[in-house]
Amino acid sequence: MASRQAEWQKRRKAEGKCIICGKPLHNATYCLKHAIMKREEQRKRLGSKARHTGWESYKAEQEYGEENKLSGVCGEEESG
Ligand SMILES: [Zn+2]
Repeated sequence: MASRQAEWQKRRKAEGKCIICGKPLHNATYCLKHAIMKREEQRKRLGSKARHTGWESYKAEQEYGEENKLSGVCGEEESG
């Protein structure tokens, strides 16, 4: 069964947008919010080993906070 989500993600990637929400990219695949989200997920999986990313994460969260104030919550759009 061809997944609708896979189609959506492919299209977002081709457009240079976050494959989850369609916002402008922060890294190669995700917007800032989802980049952080994925990193947090990974960090949880890795445990406390990846502590050296603390400052990067802190900075990104500051930026995310700013962005969030300006453009509101990055909602999950199910339509498509
Ligand atoms: Zn996103």
